[in-house]
Amino acid sequence: MPVSSGPSTFSSGAPLLFAGELALDSGFRCIYCDRYLLESIDSFDLWENDHLEPTSRGGEDNLQNMALSCRLCNKIKRHWVPADLMSLDRAGRIRAAREYVEEGRRRKEAYLDSVKAILRENSELPREPSS
Ligand SMILES: [Zn+2]
Repeated sequence: MPVSSGPSTFSSGAPLLFAGELALDSGFRCIYCDRYLLESIDSFDLWENDHLEPTSRGGEDNLQNMALSCRLCNKIKRHWVPADLMSLDRAGRIRAAREYVEEGRRRKEAYLDSVKAILRENSELPREPSS
């Protein structure tokens, strides 16, 4: 499926044709965390195309194997694949990866909380308002 005219890449290097179709498919939101990637230039800059089966593991560079992702979710998922990858269809692969990414995001949130607590103990951060 050749792309014949216009810019052929986003900054991530993903083919524009893929990016456009993936974006429409997900409403321009990260398929994992639901972040709206057209919200601002900061959000737009996070736009990446995830390979459900990573190319490093033989995944193909086609629409069936790709999903719109923000940079953090894509970074968390990296080369991970579910053990039963080959028995899952596209929707199943997305569901499995979403659970994995959500767990990764929770770990990062916990780590951030611990960093903030340490900084607060050392009076390097103002106390957060108590609720
Ligand atoms: Zn995301």
